[in-house]
Amino acid sequence: MFCPFCSVQETKVIDSRLVSDGAQVRRRRECMQCKERFTTFEAAELVMPRVVKRDGSREPFHEEKLRAGLQRALEKRPVSTEQIEKCITRIKSTLRATGEREVESALVGNIIMDSLKELDKVAYVRFASVYRSFEDIREFGEEIAKLGDE
Ligand SMILES: [Zn+2]
Repeated sequence: MFCPFCSVQETKVIDSRLVSDGAQVRRRRECMQCKERFTTFEAAELVMPRVVKRDGSREPFHEEKLRAGLQRALEKRPVSTEQIEKCITRIKSTLRATGEREVESALVGNIIMDSLKELDKVAYVRFASVYRSFEDIREFGEEIAKLGDE
């Protein structure tokens, strides 16, 4: 990373240790040019990206809405609560893995529909046919996330 004193790109890690019970890595760095030393902290980014809706407004990712939507889509299907929870965890890691602070609702919809398809094809097809008037499959996923609103 850049030296905060002289902005040169070459800095060297001279010490690295776990802090905060292993939740962070503290690194001492030394600039190869001006020899100044500084400290950096590295921690996992666990914040979910915010969702950008079609009208341009932003809202936080609502795990509860997603759960309610999936449960509704999977009503009377042989899918356990544990499978649904695993699916939600996967959806969340996929969203985090984008590394973005904001994601389009269309992308969220895509990811949700892919997960539903994997979880239960019948529910996926049933859900898709109910909303067949939608031009784009992504919108079904967005609908699932919205179901909890009702
Ligand atoms: Zn420097």
